[in-house]
Amino acid sequence: MTASNFTWEYAPAPEAKDHAKIKKQYDLFINGQFVKPQSKKYFETINPANEEVLAQVAEANEKDVNAAVTAAKTAYDKYWKKLSGAERAKYIFRIARVIQERSRELAVIESLNGGKAIRESRDFDIPTAANHFFYYAGWADKLEYAFPNRTPQSLGVAAQIIPWNFPLLMAAWKIAPALATGNTVVLKPAESTPLTALKLAEIIQDCDLPPGVVNIITGFGNTGAAMVNHPQVNKIAFTGSTDVGKIIQKAIAGTDKKLTLELGGKAANIVFEDAPINQAVEGIVNGIFFNQGHVCCAGSRLFVQEGVADEVISKLKARMDTLIVGDPLDKNTDIGAINSKEQLEKIKSYLKIGVNEGLEIFQSDACALPKKGFFCKPTLFIGAAQSNRVVQEEIFGPVLTIQTFRTIEEVIEKANNIPYGLSAGVWTDKGSKIFNLTSKMRAGVVWANTYNKFDPTSPFGGYKESGFGREGGLHGLMPYVKF
Ligand code: NAP
Ligand code: MG
Repeated sequence: MTASNFTWEYAPAPEAKDHAKIKKQYDLFINGQFVKPQSKKYFETINPANEEVLAQVAEANEKDVNAAVTAAKTAYDKYWKKLSGAERAKYIFRIARVIQERSRELAVIESLNGGKAIRESRDFDIPTAANHFFYYAGWADKLEYAFPNRTPQSLGVAAQIIPWNFPLLMAAWKIAPALATGNTVVLKPAESTPLTALKLAEIIQDCDLPPGVVNIITGFGNTGAAMVNHPQVNKIAFTGSTDVGKIIQKAIAGTDKKLTLELGGKAANIVFEDAPINQAVEGIVNGIFFNQGHVCCAGSRLFVQEGVADEVISKLKARMDTLIVGDPLDKNTDIGAINSKEQLEKIKSYLKIGVNEGLEIFQSDACALPKKGFFCKPTLFIGAAQSNRVVQEEIFGPVLTIQTFRTIEEVIEKANNIPYGLSAGVWTDKGSKIFNLTSKMRAGVVWANTYNKFDPTSPFGGYKESGFGREGGLHGLMPYVKF
């Protein structure tokens, strides 16, 4: 039996969900309480793996947004801006501890509501979210060291709008530095993944944060727009699509609102002939297929040096034969459910576009999809070119385009020739090649001989249409202070 057709058969190992307490209905978290929406409207949130309804969630209208912003402004003026950094740190530290304590429940809910494999939510999303709170708790009383010889001041109310691919982690990225620097918050999770943010609201309540310091409201794009346009908002932090980022930038033109945008990406993952090929193949799979490709920094464009192209592609196909697509709660699952029907349709339309562009498509025959829910087979487009739409446009799914190159100059030129610049990966044995390449890549993060690694201490953010401003690390404090 050859390596390529040898697949382990695993018995199902689903994570129990009885300890995940999901209420039938969630109200808006405003001023330290869950309150009924003035809109009187609720919407359903589902499990994308089986399309079952998980809960009804309140839809915030303009009046609700106004109530949340007013609560945040009052909390800012009354206590939060007057509190010492050391006192703020205690609250943030407490949130981190409770996330850790409830990590199993949070991981299960993240996988139920978002579709991501439990391995990802359990081992990456939730621990990294806790780590961000721990890390920024550490900065709260040391801001004078973060900005030596300057006096950093908080801004006021931060409106924070996040997408569905890392729901709790994105909330942590945004809330932790805002609180550490003395700002108060109104946060809106994406319409399809509100549940862990609402669990975070419960945690914040349990941690006895002064009412109004963090407000969490749910709704659709209109809710986000009302937050952006509210006159008492001082700072907007947005992560999502480039299209909505542009709308927000236009909306605040002429105001003194501060803005950071973390937008789309189309990262190049570059494999040189001298790379450790087996490791690179694992890194390619991790870079684009895990998390269903719902990663803004996913390595969605593979560049392989000609001499090793055949070897890399055949090893990649063999590895794809072993990937398990299915129940997000199963611990064996590599690739969970696509987040929504809408997103699955978008991915499928790109699969058609790639085929119509004449590219060779590969999907493993060994990979079976569940009958219910939104699932997509990991896919390769082989023989792609710079001009292909599947190369230029963000698909945000488990779809990898493959191009070959001969020289380092050629690959840098091609990798940079794209509207985005969020991240990139390079695989080579030579340190000098890594330094040469990283200094010329127009990408916020370049991983060398690894991919998709995150740490609260290192900044993350993009060039060009991938946005501006940095989150994480000391740099992540900057967008929340003035001097
Ligand atoms: P999206 O449609 O831009 O939504 C992002 C958030 O903005 C959601 O909470 C959304 O609410 C809200 N929103 C929609 N229209 C708005 C408006 N006019 N004003 C204010 N807020 C508005 O993006 P998505 O479809 O959720 O996420 C996928 C995209 O996010 C991808 O393009 C991906 O590259 C990008 N992303 C980037 C990063 C990064 O760090 N750079 C991270 C993750 C994702 P609704 O959910 O209710 O529509
Ligand atoms: Mg959207």
